[in-house]
Amino acid sequence: MEDSPAPRTDPAGRGPDRWQHTASAAGLLADDGSVAVTIFAEMSALAVRTGAINLGQGFPDVDGPEYVKQAAVRAIEEGRNQYAPGDGVPELRRAVAAHQKRHYGLDVDPDTEVLVTTGATEALTASILALTRPGDEVLTLEPFYDSHAAAIGMSGATHVTAPLVPGPDGFRLDVEALRAAASPRLRMIVLNSPHNPTGTVLTPGELAAVAAVARERDAIVVTDEVYEHLTFGAEHVPMATLPGMAERTLTISSSGKTFSFTGWKVGWVHGPATLVTAVRTVKQFLTYTSGAPFQPAIALALDDDETPRALAASLAERRDLLCAGLEAAGFTVTRPAGTYFVMADATELLPRLGLRDGVELCRRLPELAGVVAIPATAFCRAGSPTARALANHVRLTFVKREDVLREAVTRLAALRQA
Ligand code: PMP
Ligand code: GLN
Repeated sequence: MEDSPAPRTDPAGRGPDRWQHTASAAGLLADDGSVAVTIFAEMSALAVRTGAINLGQGFPDVDGPEYVKQAAVRAIEEGRNQYAPGDGVPELRRAVAAHQKRHYGLDVDPDTEVLVTTGATEALTASILALTRPGDEVLTLEPFYDSHAAAIGMSGATHVTAPLVPGPDGFRLDVEALRAAASPRLRMIVLNSPHNPTGTVLTPGELAAVAAVARERDAIVVTDEVYEHLTFGAEHVPMATLPGMAERTLTISSSGKTFSFTGWKVGWVHGPATLVTAVRTVKQFLTYTSGAPFQPAIALALDDDETPRALAASLAERRDLLCAGLEAAGFTVTRPAGTYFVMADATELLPRLGLRDGVELCRRLPELAGVVAIPATAFCRAGSPTARALANHVRLTFVKREDVLREAVTRLAALRQA
C-alpha cells in the first residue's frame, strides 16, 4: 500500500490541475510534465502502424446481434433522436431491474434505483466523484482497470490497493493484504469481478472477505461487473447479493461486453436510491443524458439471455486456443475464468529475446511476431510491489475471430525460434 505519486507542480506554485492528478493517477504523466495517451490508444495505434494483429485493446471484431442493430435503426427512424430522460428511458431502466431479478434475485426499483449512463466508465467516474473527497481512501484490487485509478485521482481521494497474486488457482486475492490496506479512512472499495486484466472471477470466500471489510469500515462498494456474463465455468456472484451489502453497494454494468457493442456506450448503475441520487447529481452535469436511440435497442437485448450465453461459450474456446498458442510460444499462462483477457508471463522467453521486461516485449512484439499485447504494469501503480511482481506479464485479448487468433498463434510461435 502506497500513496498516489505526487503530480508535478507548475512553476507558479499553484499546484497541479485536476487533469494532472487524473493523468498521474493513471500513470500517464511523465517527469517532464508531458502526458501520454492511454496504453490502449498507444497499442492500438502501434497495431495500425505496423499492421500487427491487435490483441491489445479489448473489443470484439464481430458486432452484436442484427436484431439489436435494427432496433437502434428503427429508434432513429421513429424519431427518438432528442434528449432521453436524464435517468434513462423507462424501458431500459425496467429491463435492467428485470435482468437483476431474473439472474440474481435482486429487487431493484426501476424508477428510483437505476441510472443509465454513458457506458460503465461514466457510471464509475460519476460514482467515485460523487461519493469521495480528498482525504478519503479508495481501495481497489491491483492490477486494476485504468479508469478506476484515473477517477480516484480526479476525485482527489487516495488510492490504496490489495494485490491479486498469481498461483495454480489463478490470480487470487491476498485477503490479509486487503485487511491491512483498509484503514479507518477507507470510504469506498471499487471492486471488479470478473476482473480485467487477470480474468479472475472472485470466489464467494473472497467476496465475503471484501464485504466484511466494507461493513467493518462502513465503506461503500462500487462493483464493476461489465463481464458478468462472460465467465467460463465460474459463477459470477454480484456483491449486492451478499448479506447486508445491497444497502451499501452500487452495481455497475454495461451493454458493451455483454452484447458486443462497445462503441454504443450504454451502461447503468443501480443501488439504494440515496446513493443513486448522489451519482445522478454528478452524471447529469457530465453528460446530462446518454445515447437516446441506443437505449431502447439495449432494453430489447437485455431480455435475451441466449446471446451472452453463446458468446461466453465461444469465448471459452477462443481462450483455450490462445492459451495453448501462448504456451507453445514459451509463455506461462494463468487461465482466466472470465473476461476477454489472458495474462501471460514471459519470464522464460525474455532472456532468449534479449529483452528486459513486459514493456520492452510489447514495444518489440509487432516486429518480432506481428502481434500487439499490453504490458501488465499498465494496470499497476508505478513501482508498486504488484508492478514488480508482474513486470514480465503481458495481457492479450481473445475476443477476436478464430481465424485471427489462429494466425496470431502461428506468428507467436516464431518467438520460440528467436
Ligand atoms: N470496466 C472494465 C473492467 C472494462 O474492461 C471496461 C471496458 N472495456 C469498462 C469498465 C468500460 O466499459 P464501457 O465501455 O461500458 O464504458
Ligand atoms: N476495456 C478495454 C480494455 O481493457 C478497452 C478500454 C479502453 O480502450 N479504454 O482493453
